Amino acid sequence: MSDFGGAVKPLSENPDYKIAILGVPFDEKSSYLRGAAGGPAAVRAVSTGKCYCGWTELGVDLEADTVMVDLGDVDTSGDPDKTFALTEKAVERILAKGAVPIVLGGDHSITYPVLKAFARHHKPLDVLHFDAHPDLYDDLYGDRLSHACPFARILDDGLAAGVVQVGVRAVTAAHRARALKYGVRMVEMKDIQDTLHLRFAHPVYVSFDMDALDPAFAPGVSHHEPGGLSTRQAIQVIQALKGRIVGLDIVELNPSRDPASITAAAAFKIIKETAGRIVRPS
Ligand code: MN
Ligand code: MN
Repeated sequence: MSDFGGAVKPLSENPDYKIAILGVPFDEKSSYLRGAAGGPAAVRAVSTGKCYCGWTELGVDLEADTVMVDLGDVDTSGDPDKTFALTEKAVERILAKGAVPIVLGGDHSITYPVLKAFARHHKPLDVLHFDAHPDLYDDLYGDRLSHACPFARILDDGLAAGVVQVGVRAVTAAHRARALKYGVRMVEMKDIQDTLHLRFAHPVYVSFDMDALDPAFAPGVSHHEPGGLSTRQAIQVIQALKGRIVGLDIVELNPSRDPASITAAAAFKIIKETAGRIVRPS
């Protein structure tokens, strides 16, 4: 369990919570290195204790201005199909209360079952996807549920009305064709000059793959793709966006490559600033 700078309150006293943290310690769909299953524990460890306060940069006090609880982890001891079903069910329960889930991955494959639950509560839904990779492979090594494929599945199933990908810099011709087919907007790293001011017409789900950040800022990921976003640039995109954020996942944090917990601290910072925007949209 975590305290998130004192913001997380006991579930038993707060059944009508507004924001729920949910861990999915799962990395069986990782194509290169395992380790992302340690993500939830790493975020909780770095955010618990006296290191951080509950105030965001934009002046939201997460301790006083909302009710945040930590629901613990999804049971990932079964096979991937079972884990995905349990993940979908756990997110469904949060959404049925009218609350906002903050999902700690896990590799990026978990976003597909999470958005299956969202489709029953928020339709149409826009998605803001931070990543070095478009995750639009139809399959990777024969697996259509690989962590390289979630956005292909999400678009095939019509779970998102609009997808904006920020920070991508490992794009194949097939990715481009698929993005074009589905109207995905790619804001490629090579084209980013100034702060992005994104505007979303529908409720927006943020899916944040930690490898969107440059490895200099976030070494604790399985796929090091240099030339990425600074932590500050990513925070600015979240702070500047116009729209109502209804969900967040933070995925691909691999603590085995994060000896000084820098990446976990960056993940927590991004969660915190996003939570502030959930509490106070603009
Ligand atoms: Mn990804
Ligand atoms: Mn990635």
